[in-house]
Amino acid sequence: MIPAGPSPLQHEAAARWQAAWRQAVRDPRELLTLLGLEAQAQRISEAAAAQFPLRVPRGFIARMRHGDPDDPLLRQVLPVLDEERVAPGFELDAVGDGAARRGHGVIHKYNGRALLIATGSCAVNCRYCFRRHYPYAEDTAAAAGWRGALDVLRQDRSIHEVILSGGDPLSLADHKLTELSDALRDIPHIRRLRIHSRLPIVLPERVDAGLLHWLHGLPWPVVIVVHANHGNEFDATVDAALAGLRDAGATLLNQAVLLRGVNDSVDALASLCERGFQAGVLPYYLHQLDRVAGAAHFEVDDPRALALHVELTSRLPGYLVPRLVREIPGHPSKSPLSRALDSTAHAV
Ligand SMILES: *Cc1c(COP(=O)(O)O)cnc(C)c1O
Ligand code: SF4
Repeated sequence: MIPAGPSPLQHEAAARWQAAWRQAVRDPRELLTLLGLEAQAQRISEAAAAQFPLRVPRGFIARMRHGDPDDPLLRQVLPVLDEERVAPGFELDAVGDGAARRGHGVIHKYNGRALLIATGSCAVNCRYCFRRHYPYAEDTAAAAGWRGALDVLRQDRSIHEVILSGGDPLSLADHKLTELSDALRDIPHIRRLRIHSRLPIVLPERVDAGLLHWLHGLPWPVVIVVHANHGNEFDATVDAALAGLRDAGATLLNQAVLLRGVNDSVDALASLCERGFQAGVLPYYLHQLDRVAGAAHFEVDDPRALALHVELTSRLPGYLVPRLVREIPGHPSKSPLSRALDSTAHAV
C-alpha cells in the first residue's frame, strides 16, 4: 500500500505553527512594552542579547503576568545585565559534550541510550541554557542528512533507545522527522524512541494533525519529555497539545531546571508538579543548573536545593516528586544530588 501523503489540511496546519514560530518576539523592548514594563528597559543587556538573542513565542508571552517585572516566565527569557557578571566555574561547555561526541550529532554518554542533536533550532531561547554557547549549527544530525548519526546507531547494538534532542527536535518539519523514523525502523536493536522538547509548552501550535499522524505511526513505545519550569507555563492550549500527544500513545514526562527567582520555592515546585499532572504529565527530573557562563544569577546552591527537595517530598505523593539531579561530566548517569554531594566530599 502506498501511504497517503499529508493532506492539504495538514499542510495548512503546518503553515500555522511555522507562522506562529516566525512571529516570535525578538526585541527585548517590544517584549517589555507588551507587558506594560517599558520602565524596566534599563535591565536589558545589549551584550547578552547580541550573544544569545531573545526569542519568545507570543502564546508564551500571553501567559506572563502583565505589569510584573518579576514574572517567572519573563525571567527565563529576558536578556539582563546579570548575565554580564563573570562567575568562576561558569563555563562555555558546562556538561562536557565536546568530549562525548562520537559521530554527526550523536552523543553517547549513557548505557543503552544515544542522544541525537537533531537540530540546533528552538522556538524559545532560555537564558539558563547551555545551548547559548554550543556550536550546534555546525554539527547536527539532520544537517548531515542523518547519515552519520544512523551509521553510529546501526553499528552499536548496545543502543536500544534513541533520544531526539537539540535544540528542539520538534522544530524540525514533519517530513524531516519521517525521514529519520523511516531510517530507524530498519535498525533492529532500537526498542524505544524518546523526544525531549519544549515546544508543546512554548509553542503548542506545533502539536498539529501532521505531528500526531507521525506519532501514531511509529513502531516503538514513545516517551516525550517536555520542559516546563513553572506552573504558569500551562494553559488551555498547552493542555490540549499534551492531551493530543497522550492520545497518540506517548508517555509524557516533565523535566525542569531549578532556577532562582523562577521556581526556587516549595510552593512553586509543588504547583508545577500538580499542574503538570493535571495535564497528564509526570515529573521526571529537577535539574541543578548547568554551570554555563551567563547563568550564575539563576543558581540555587546545593544545600538549599536539597532542602527544597526534602520539603517537596514531604508535601506531595511520591509519584509527583521529580528526581533532583545534576549532570557531572564523566559520570555514567545523571547524579542524584545527595550522592553528587557525597562524591564531591570523597574526592577531596
Ligand atoms: C540526560 C542524557 C540522557 C538521558 O538520561 P536519562 O537518565 O535516561 O534521562 C542520555 N544521553 C545524554 C547525553 C544525556 O545528557
Ligand atoms: S534547548 Fe531547551 S532549554 Fe535550551 S533554549 Fe532550547 S528550549 Fe530552551
